[in-house]
Amino acid sequence: MDRLHDRLAARFTLSDDEAAYFHQAGGRDDLLPVRITDYYLTLMGDSPEDPIRRQAVPRVQELERREYELSDPLGEHRFKATDRMIHRYRDRVVLLVTDSCAMYCRHCFRRSFSGRRFGPVSDPDVEAACAYLAAHPEVTEVILSGGDPLTLPIGRLHSLLTSLRSARPEVVFRVGTRIPVVEPAAVSDALVDVLATAAPLWVVAQFNHPRELTPASTAAVSALVAAGIPVVNHTVLLRGVNDSVETLEALCHALVRRRVKPYYLFQGDLARGTAHFRVPLRRGLDLVRSLRRRISGLAMPTYAVDLPGGGGKIPLTESYLLGERDGFYRFAGPDGDTYTYPVEADGEP
Ligand SMILES: *Cc1c(COP(=O)(O)O)cnc(C)c1O
Ligand code: SF4
Repeated sequence: MDRLHDRLAARFTLSDDEAAYFHQAGGRDDLLPVRITDYYLTLMGDSPEDPIRRQAVPRVQELERREYELSDPLGEHRFKATDRMIHRYRDRVVLLVTDSCAMYCRHCFRRSFSGRRFGPVSDPDVEAACAYLAAHPEVTEVILSGGDPLTLPIGRLHSLLTSLRSARPEVVFRVGTRIPVVEPAAVSDALVDVLATAAPLWVVAQFNHPRELTPASTAAVSALVAAGIPVVNHTVLLRGVNDSVETLEALCHALVRRRVKPYYLFQGDLARGTAHFRVPLRRGLDLVRSLRRRISGLAMPTYAVDLPGGGGKIPLTESYLLGERDGFYRFAGPDGDTYTYPVEADGEP
């Protein structure tokens, strides 16, 4: 048994499902590694159903495979621009800067990359990325992802951002990271400085539950915002973690109060071994409809799914438009009543 298993077992009694994972996964190297920060461990409750614990402690269901699950759930292979770069949408690219994360989230959809010893980007990787960016002026946004880019040594992150910036002075950077959530103390003044210097740069965090908004994570996010770094949030809709209107409402309010804009709420991707986290899409739509009635537009994330096979990200919305009749669009208002709006609003026939 490894040290993490002992650390967990010292803290609480492992459930049968959790213990079975450690028992069956031992020695396999084709799985998402198990890694939990000491900080995140302190947030966990005693129940195996605790929403924090579910995100971090593996359970045996992770070893199950559904026949529709995929090792490349987003079909990203088709859009490889360089070894480390995905260019799926015209104006933005994703650069996988490292496979390493401070903690491995059990629901991770990049699990065939994350924690698989690809290591951090090499100098030739960075050169290839810079050359690609220089040759593709249509790219206006570079999304640093992984793995978690903020696990790179600060000097390495700084030189990476500096190289990309000199290849394309005007691009916008976006950094996807869970560091503020799982290891907020790592958001040091020096790190904030490196990110602020690379402006314009946006940080995309991944808070999935209101209990993750602690004084420590609040301080991390506040330091970023105070340095002029806009912070938005991705939430993954996760069964047993945040699949209730009350939880999502509390999460979105807590984020906005900390000046973090809820950006996306993701329907679970079809990554292998994540079936126990997925919420039926129909239920997701119901949740989002109720949520929209309870929170402001500012607090409302866009519910979205990344279509399997490389279809891309699409917003999942119910249509309020009922149809068109006698020169009027007919809409269902939030109160359930029907309202109309003229088809030719400018009065011309
Ligand atoms: C999600 C994603 C993006 C960014 O999409 P936005 O809708 O702009 O947030 C870009 N490239 C890839 C490959 C993605 O998966
Ligand atoms: S931080 Fe992101 S990439 Fe890393 S394990 Fe969690 S979801 Fe996956």
